[in-house]
Amino acid sequence: MTHDVLTVRNVSKTFLPNIIALEKASLNVRKGEVHCLLGANGAGKSTLLKIIAGALRPSAGELMLDGKPVDVWSPAEAARLGISMIYQELDLVPQLTVEENLFLGHAPRTFGVIHKRERRRRSIEALQRVGANFGPEIRVEALSVANQQLTAIARSLTMDAKIIIMDEPSASLNETELESVFEVIRDLVSQGVAILYVSHRLGELRAIGDRMTVLRGGCTIDTFDVSKTGDEALVEAIIGKE
Ligand code: ATP
Repeated sequence: MTHDVLTVRNVSKTFLPNIIALEKASLNVRKGEVHCLLGANGAGKSTLLKIIAGALRPSAGELMLDGKPVDVWSPAEAARLGISMIYQELDLVPQLTVEENLFLGHAPRTFGVIHKRERRRRSIEALQRVGANFGPEIRVEALSVANQQLTAIARSLTMDAKIIIMDEPSASLNETELESVFEVIRDLVSQGVAILYVSHRLGELRAIGDRMTVLRGGCTIDTFDVSKTGDEALVEAIIGKE
């Protein structure tokens, strides 16, 4: 039985003086699915992601995790709740090792308390889950962009993320690298992790997504079953009727 891990209900965001970035946006991400968020530039994707990840406060509306209302008032609170955001620029510290990076984003409560040996064990486990062919001691600056992407995903796993939000992961990957990231994503969803995947490349979303929510002008237009919806209907949702 699948249930909604994340529910976004009627979320609005107005930036001063009066830019309406989101207006009653709603979507639900199920356990074990890749849910895509699609929209043209300026549609409100980043604003919605930041609200889910605790980096921005909504002006109205609510978020629920596993059916319970939550107040994601900071990124640390998001991490504690099991919401992990991977930004396009990955937010890794290149001069630090993979293992140091894996535990960097942890809520202050847990950071430092985990014993060294336990950290190593969890690092190795997370790296195995993403199929990494590198170890925890290597410095991030020595890794390819694709392996840095895997490190960022592994970091989400060390935080026991229920939902991982990926903002345009394809931006700096070639096709082969992207396919290997897709394999990792498929593996994680089969283990019950939910992914909210953001991009404006339709083909890419078709290749990885189960369902897709389209945002236009700050409003969620609809949610589509990817395998049952033709390109025409999706493009019309993205840009509106001519
Ligand atoms: P892109 O694909 O270009 O990143 P997006 O879909 O992520 O676009 P947002 O970045 O969420 O869109 O922006 C939605 C609207 O809100 C845009 O009109 C943008 O100019 C505006 N906006 C975003 N952040 C701010 C801010 N901090 N202050 C004022 N306006 C903002």
